[in-house]
Amino acid sequence: MKINGTLLQADNMKVFNLNGKTNGNGHHAAWEEAELIGDDHGSANLNTPLREDAFRMSEEEKMLVIEEHFEQIMNTLGLDLTDDSLKGTPHRVAKMFVQEIFHGLNPENKPRMSVFDNKFRYGQMLVEKNIKVQSTCEHHFLPIFGKAHIAYISSGTVIGLSKLNRIVDYYSRRPQVQERLTVQIVDELKKVLKTEDVALVIEAHHMCVASRGIQDDGSTTVTAEYSGAFKNEKTKEEFLTYIGMKL
Ligand SMILES: [Zn+2]
Repeated sequence: MKINGTLLQADNMKVFNLNGKTNGNGHHAAWEEAELIGDDHGSANLNTPLREDAFRMSEEEKMLVIEEHFEQIMNTLGLDLTDDSLKGTPHRVAKMFVQEIFHGLNPENKPRMSVFDNKFRYGQMLVEKNIKVQSTCEHHFLPIFGKAHIAYISSGTVIGLSKLNRIVDYYSRRPQVQERLTVQIVDELKKVLKTEDVALVIEAHHMCVASRGIQDDGSTTVTAEYSGAFKNEKTKEEFLTYIGMKL
């Protein structure tokens, strides 16, 4: 990868080592394992797996490198990059990756959270529903899109409603699995709101399920995380009634 004439290479870059292993059908065993992990769509880690040197390159440097690599992908597919319609695509994809759909990888882009005292002494649950979720499946790099429904009971601290949207957006703008996204958002809300009483339901479409593999475009995936008071059945039921879901 060449930037301004110098060669950059990320340290300890993980390389998928196929080791030439094949099964009886002549398929690479490691490829099959990767397929299985991809179809499982789960991940046990709370933190997005990032290398320590993840932000050593500037955004501009990353865009140049991604542009070059994406050009290679298109070239490999046999596409004619001199075509007017295609020639700008590597740059567009690089810019979209770094500045838009994976913008939430960089902690510097985390939304600032201003909190207020709960002057109204409102002690009931607050629900914000139908928050837009626009994310990307980390197993296939295809879109995940849907809605998030958040509830919390204030312990004396409140945040502006639009901040809930911003937290969802920040954690969505990464390569993700829906389970991790759900837990990351709840974890952040607990910290910001200084309470355990937080609940979140995400219902989302996965393009990797709709457009490849099983090709089911009608199904959605629901993930839910209930913490503190929301582990109580009655409180959970009240929340689910507000968002139109039944226990
Ligand atoms: Zn996927």
